[in-house]
Amino acid sequence: MGLEDKLSELKARVTELSTLGEVMALLNWDQACYMPPGASEDRARQMAALGALIHDKATAPEMGQLVEDLAAELGDLNADTLEAREVYLAKERFEKTAKVPRELALEIIAAEARGHDTWVKAKRENDFAVFAPDLKRIFDLAKARAEYFKPYDHVYDVLLDDYERGMKTAEVQAVFNWLKPRQTELVRRILQAPQPDDSFLERDYDLEGQRKVGEYAVRKMGYDLNEGRIDRSDHPFTTSIGRGDVRFTMRYLPSVRSSLMAHMHEGGHALHSQGLNPEWRGMYLRRGPSSGIAESQSRLWENLVGRSREFWAFFMPVMQATFPEHLASVSAEQMYRGLNRVENSLIRIEADEATYNLHVMLRMELEIALLEGNLETRDLPEAWNEKMRANLGLTPPTDSLGVLQDMHWSSGLIGYFPTYSLGNLYASQFWNQLLKEQPGIPDQVARGEFGNVLEWMREKVHRVGTRYDPQVILERATGERLNPKYYMDYLTEKYTEIYGL
Ligand SMILES: [Zn+2]
Repeated sequence: MGLEDKLSELKARVTELSTLGEVMALLNWDQACYMPPGASEDRARQMAALGALIHDKATAPEMGQLVEDLAAELGDLNADTLEAREVYLAKERFEKTAKVPRELALEIIAAEARGHDTWVKAKRENDFAVFAPDLKRIFDLAKARAEYFKPYDHVYDVLLDDYERGMKTAEVQAVFNWLKPRQTELVRRILQAPQPDDSFLERDYDLEGQRKVGEYAVRKMGYDLNEGRIDRSDHPFTTSIGRGDVRFTMRYLPSVRSSLMAHMHEGGHALHSQGLNPEWRGMYLRRGPSSGIAESQSRLWENLVGRSREFWAFFMPVMQATFPEHLASVSAEQMYRGLNRVENSLIRIEADEATYNLHVMLRMELEIALLEGNLETRDLPEAWNEKMRANLGLTPPTDSLGVLQDMHWSSGLIGYFPTYSLGNLYASQFWNQLLKEQPGIPDQVARGEFGNVLEWMREKVHRVGTRYDPQVILERATGERLNPKYYMDYLTEKYTEIYGL
């Protein structure tokens, strides 16, 4: 078989894996949105069968041989060509899956399935002890899996690399160590100033009205509903079920505080997926490069655009027309200030831009302590509360509002949290560069024109797929690797003005 034949063979295999992955995504989406409760056992059986099929195809000896042959034939997989990159990604994926013994991989899947159930129960009953043994098991298995990826500088590097290719623990720690005192000091100053009024966000807003304005906003952003749809689920998420099928979900509450921003957040994820290069169908190249880059795209629309004064100049009349009884007497400026109110809070997903990263840092510190053996799972609630007091000056009244609030650990997502903060930092760095190149962007946003924002992101991020590692994407777009200064400057400027610091 010649090189071309082998590359086609790889493409056929990757296409098959992606196709099965899309079927899994459809099962997941249906489970979250429409499945009747009585079907949970059936769905678990269907997903386990499909999961085993995907695992076996991904780790098939023929796949390993093909990837080895291609790597040998191409030589330097770091060469700047599409073929070398695709084979590099295929080899990486194969090794990550095949290095872990099948029994361990299946044990991990089973522990996560059980962990998710006990976490739901523990959170509902506010009883950490219900979840503690499974949590310990999940961390132990993560450590056992990391053993197969030695040598590493830090065990956390192995986990982090699953979500943020090439990023090292030491690099994230250095960024967080720089950011933490600065962000904490900014929050301290903000909280001494008078708070803007945001009581109008908490009125009883019609849910259908919220859906309408949310859909209007994401359509304006460029989300194509001919190749997507919006449904309801308990937790908003975005999923790709095919090249022409990128859906997201929403949750609506009477308060209007979060639904529009959540639309723009998930809409940002969906635009990223819709913008991946269509010519790379069936290739690893046509995937998002990392969780951090993915999150930069959602945060950019949610915060840099959606929480800006310019956006509200455009959007306030839309909101007032939809909710005249609640908002007729509220100005765009009041809305802007209300949506940017800062306070120390218990729940990460409800945190404002100024305090959000402090929640993430706490989680990363605890994950590292658990992996290094400096903290026992049973002592986690106490350690959590101590850090909440230190970082945010609050003690969670219950574990459900503390250590049990996130589902991540129960699903084996260890090393994932930092990518949320990286997303914030990347978004500011991209935005800074975009404004440098196109100073007219804020005026365009104020007129509801988002085409140039989207086109810049399409060119610099979406169409790039996984052609480059996250830091290289950042460097090619902005001239430098991750630099937290842009984020800190953005926060400082924004809140100094809002709070008159
Ligand atoms: Zn997100």
